[in-house]
Amino acid sequence: MKDNFPVLGFDIGGTKIGVGLVSSDGKLLGKDRIENKHSYPDEILPKMVEIGKRLVADAGLNMDQIRAIGIASPAPADFLNGIITCPTNQKHWINVPIVEYISEHFGVETHFDNDANAGMLAEWFFGAGRGFKDVIYLTMSTGIGGGVIANGHLIKGASLVAGEIGHMVLEPNGIKCNCGLTGCYEAYCGGLAIAQRMQKELADQPDHPIVQHAGGNIDDVDMIALEKAVTEDNEYAMALWSETCERNAQAYGMLMNIFNPERIILGTLAWATGDMFMKPVEEQIPRFAWKQTREACTLVKSELRRDIGYYAGPAIALNGLYEKGEFERP
Ligand SMILES: [Zn+2]
Repeated sequence: MKDNFPVLGFDIGGTKIGVGLVSSDGKLLGKDRIENKHSYPDEILPKMVEIGKRLVADAGLNMDQIRAIGIASPAPADFLNGIITCPTNQKHWINVPIVEYISEHFGVETHFDNDANAGMLAEWFFGAGRGFKDVIYLTMSTGIGGGVIANGHLIKGASLVAGEIGHMVLEPNGIKCNCGLTGCYEAYCGGLAIAQRMQKELADQPDHPIVQHAGGNIDDVDMIALEKAVTEDNEYAMALWSETCERNAQAYGMLMNIFNPERIILGTLAWATGDMFMKPVEEQIPRFAWKQTREACTLVKSELRRDIGYYAGPAIALNGLYEKGEFERP
């Protein structure tokens, strides 16, 4: 079916929920945000329904024109049964049957997946992955979430947790990861892990340029402070940046040889820093991937960037229809 129709979606994040109404050909018909810091589902769920219905009405549409709804949530969650179990940043969201609630209150079929898969689907249907059959998306943000499209389908895996690329172990005796394993890719290249590492290593150096770029407060040291120190050629910053680029190249090279993708689409860090990230990473890739796989693959930056949260939920809805044979992607 090549007809054009609207889908609605919610992207549940640690501090806010993105609500997007998108047409199947990629036009953003409506968007809003719900603050979601330390909140209780009892107050947020009715708001999701109210705002979703308002977006549909404001776009001049009726609810029965909305073919599907998609919900993106951080892992871990019970994706099979549509239940938000207890995400790390949401201590009050314990065993919330989100799919049942949303589908009942809207009267529309509802699909559910993790936020990184949602980002992958958003780029695939509406962004840098359009028209490709084999693509990988990496969030490259505070953590490293991943999603994999192989042979034209999102890989879900036997227990629905496929695509946890951030937790491939790159260094068995390396840095401890927040997930419990040691030496994960995310422990080297996730924004939060790098910030924590700098806070530890620079704890007794209040005059260090990185600490100064964070306003002199060690607890505020983050990727932005690092980036500034790298552009000033600070030795510590450049060594850390170069180690990070090498680890990223290692991970991308592994993905190239395993999945042989046409594109690897990179989120926040890549588009926020541009060439100072992309160039050293590309230079290192030949150490980690065969000529055949790297020549077939282009590293690209996310196209949807900051707006990805509005497209994430709708992309899950579209993928639900696509997998049932009710939607043919462009
Ligand atoms: Zn890990």
